[in-house]
Amino acid sequence: LKDGDPLEEHQITVAVRKRPLNKKEQSKREIDVITIPKRNTLYVHEPRTKVDLTKYLENQNFRFDYAFDETCHNDLVYKYTARPLVQTIFEGGMATCFAYGQTGSGKTHTMGGDFQGKNQDCAKGIYAMVAKDVFIFTKNPKYRQLNLQVSASFFEIYGGKVFDLLNSKTKLRVLEDGKNVVQVVGLQERVCENVDDVLRLISLGSQVRTSGQTAANNQSSRSHAVFQIILRNLDKIEKQGDKAYKLHGKFSLIDLAGNERGADTSSANRQTRMEGAEINKSLLALKECIRALGRKGAHLPFRASKLTQVLRDSFIGDKSRTCMIAMISPGMGCCEHTLNTLRYADRVKEL
Ligand code: ADP
Ligand code: MG
Repeated sequence: LKDGDPLEEHQITVAVRKRPLNKKEQSKREIDVITIPKRNTLYVHEPRTKVDLTKYLENQNFRFDYAFDETCHNDLVYKYTARPLVQTIFEGGMATCFAYGQTGSGKTHTMGGDFQGKNQDCAKGIYAMVAKDVFIFTKNPKYRQLNLQVSASFFEIYGGKVFDLLNSKTKLRVLEDGKNVVQVVGLQERVCENVDDVLRLISLGSQVRTSGQTAANNQSSRSHAVFQIILRNLDKIEKQGDKAYKLHGKFSLIDLAGNERGADTSSANRQTRMEGAEINKSLLALKECIRALGRKGAHLPFRASKLTQVLRDSFIGDKSRTCMIAMISPGMGCCEHTLNTLRYADRVKEL
């Protein structure tokens, strides 16, 4: 996949992205079991064993809106997934982009950029690329007259609770009023004048998210991170809720918990087990909510999890658009998780 324009307006776009084998996998001579022969097709060469114990590879075939191989960089992935949704929020709609997949498959690399050691490169992630385009759009004569204010929020959902990443992980309450409006009470929403303001918030929130984390208590793999770019209309005062100006549009970018964590339900540790159950529940509810987007009158089980509850306003309304990027690791050792990820992504799209 190298050129061509993004597909026509879709309400739901589903893409898959394969990362390269890393150094450790290469040194262990891990076998790459994924081939992407063209822009929307992907094969998994699954290792199987016959009754007589001979081994063979069984090819499984998947189709998505886009399939990105290991040579594709973030900017190309962005162009076909989140980029076409920027206009949506300027036209008064809601946009949502999810990164789904197993821990280590590239969700944070794709969304937030890399935060390992001194190589803190958030400018190359989708969060930052959306921010950059948002400021280009605000200068466009067509939208400049709307008098829009750009702001950002960044929070984490961990064990069914919401924590503000722009305010030292303060725990926040989620309230739903009689009119079905869901509010995260006290969530910081910082006004941004330019891209650099947004980059500082991405960097701050990403550091707060991973601080105090070790390989053994890899908390960020068990939490959903939600980064939002919000447009408010400075000419219209909001009567409802705790925000001053009327909401015009909102782009939510979500780095989901590792999907393999949903299977932690049989862990010996009670806490881990409960977190696993919560992740499982939220990923199932998310799938149903996205599927409902494409079907008129479908039931929205948004109350089934905190994640879908706080994203409720993104799942309603004709102007909502969503994309999901399913990340996969190429190694044979990850094959089972990879197939789970691909099946989930397949179900999201299937109507
Ligand atoms: P996740 O957030 O899904 O757990 P990460 O984004 O942290 O995974 O990725 C795990 C490691 O793999 C990181 O060191 C990251 O830099 C690297 N990585 C992920 N995707 C890519 C890619 N497309 N190209 C190069 N390196 C990648
Ligand atoms: Mg991550």
